[in-house]
Amino acid sequence: MNVAGHCLCGACAFTAAEVSPEIHACHCGMCRRWTGGPEYELSCEGVAFLEGAPIGRWRASDWGERGFCSRCGSALFWRGRDWPEGRLDMPPGLFDDQSGFRLTEEIFVENRPAWAPVATGAAQRAGAEVLAEMGVAP
Ligand SMILES: [Zn+2]
Ligand SMILES: [Zn+2]
Repeated sequence: MNVAGHCLCGACAFTAAEVSPEIHACHCGMCRRWTGGPEYELSCEGVAFLEGAPIGRWRASDWGERGFCSRCGSALFWRGRDWPEGRLDMPPGLFDDQSGFRLTEEIFVENRPAWAPVATGAAQRAGAEVLAEMGVAP
């Protein structure tokens, strides 16, 4: 099943072959600057953007890259440096149909700002644990 979505202006339309319904929220300082708050993301596979989509890329760290629409500025994805083509973590808000999505995990919780409440029922994980899982030394 292909799931469709797009950025605010529509220039970066995409389909994804597989989308996990489990949202994770990242409170790290980079995501906070990037999105203006916690960054909500879904794990996606087989993502294909419209031919010629004006995707900007920003290598924010040694272990990941961020993509955005260079026309309207919408955040499009985060991807690990070793990830295969088409695997991206994408914000749930880009998707046309968000029914079935649920917030299951918060990461880098030590960086949570005081105004952001703990999501009821979501797993709470420290940044060091997440980085270790990616094979990155904090
Ligand atoms: Zn756009
Ligand atoms: Zn983050």
